Amino acid sequence: MTPPPAPLLLLDVDGPLNPYAAKPHRRPAGYRTHRIKPDSWVARHPQRPAEYVRPLRVRLNPGHGPELLALPYELVWATTWTDEANTWLAPLLGLPRLPYIAWPQLHQEDPDGLHWKTRRLTAWAAGRPFARVDDELGPQDTEWIAAHHPGPALTLRIDARTGLLPADFATLAGWAAALKA
Ligand SMILES: [Mg+2]
Repeated sequence: MTPPPAPLLLLDVDGPLNPYAAKPHRRPAGYRTHRIKPDSWVARHPQRPAEYVRPLRVRLNPGHGPELLALPYELVWATTWTDEANTWLAPLLGLPRLPYIAWPQLHQEDPDGLHWKTRRLTAWAAGRPFARVDDELGPQDTEWIAAHHPGPALTLRIDARTGLLPADFATLAGWAAALKA
């Protein structure tokens, strides 16, 4: 018998991996500050030549890459960064290139008040068990996923002031272990 495929871990960046809401003068322990200029960031400042666009500040914990890889999941970017997460963030986190979910439109308003990623991300998972890690999840997203996703799903809301915490890694490991049991 072939073992069932590992669950997907659908990873948001801003919030879980880049705790953007942490106090500016209080960098969370273990994090490093990077100043980078992804193309999409430069494109958000069309009035300025690229060299005058101030870089985007991102805080990342280099321990998170190995910790994520140690989890029994297949990692997938589920972030507005899309493929730029591979270009800019994966090397800083110690992650390989990962598959990413492409969005038809970012921050699109939802008729039922769901988070804009929820429908697309659930469709993308195509019935595979998944855990979703995001700082913007609401109870309506958890309910909708439970009603519309045929496989098991875990929604884990992360505080954008702290990013992923050891307890979150423990929750993810525990959920994946329970799936196999
Ligand atoms: Mg986020």
